[in-house]
Amino acid sequence: MKEEISKLIALQKLNTEMSGFDQNIGEKQQELADREQSIQDKESAISQCRDRAEELEQRQRDIKAAHEDAGTRIKERQSKMMQVQTSREHQALLKEIEDAKKLIKDTEEQLLEVMEQAEQAEAEAVELENVCRGEKELLAEETKKVEAAVKKLNTRRKTVFNKHNKLAKDVQGSMIKRYDKLLKKRNGLAVVQVIDGVCQGCFMAIPPQQFNEIRKGDQMHSCPTCQRIFYYEAPDEKDGKK
Ligand SMILES: [Zn+2]
Repeated sequence: MKEEISKLIALQKLNTEMSGFDQNIGEKQQELADREQSIQDKESAISQCRDRAEELEQRQRDIKAAHEDAGTRIKERQSKMMQVQTSREHQALLKEIEDAKKLIKDTEEQLLEVMEQAEQAEAEAVELENVCRGEKELLAEETKKVEAAVKKLNTRRKTVFNKHNKLAKDVQGSMIKRYDKLLKKRNGLAVVQVIDGVCQGCFMAIPPQQFNEIRKGDQMHSCPTCQRIFYYEAPDEKDGKK
């Protein structure tokens, strides 16, 4: 039984090693995905800036049109002035001219303001584009690096995987089934140590009687709480290994 357990311990180490590779690969790929997302976010910000710049250009055209209209109105009213006979009509025309002049002044101010805003939006878009370009270049470099690193990791993983398969064939059929099932159910950890009567998988204390039995190592034991397969390593044995 001791031999079977030591095979399972070795198997567990290989499985842990493989999931370490998987995690490492996953993290690298996630980092690329995050960078990609950051670029996409900037691209959508750029297109928002451009939309805004376009809107502001339209506003500039509208303001210019209002400005020109006011100019035309002033000319019209001024030529009408020659023909009016009553002071009331005269006053009304003067008022209209005054209003149009005020509108011209206002639209000139508005135009300056809107032009400035449009320039700002455009400058913001250009700046974001520069940042984006830099990030894209970096991402392309990083992608190459990650691809190379992932390739290496996969090669190493494959070696471990082959070792694992070879060893698994050597373990009793019923045992390997139980092991695989636990591995899936318990997040990649099927075989755990018991230290001071505590399961290192779920960290629950086990009955003292069971702990004594496990220390003898004659029989296979599993955690009453998480069902993981137990093994025991005497403290001196452990120190000796290190
Ligand atoms: Zn447990």
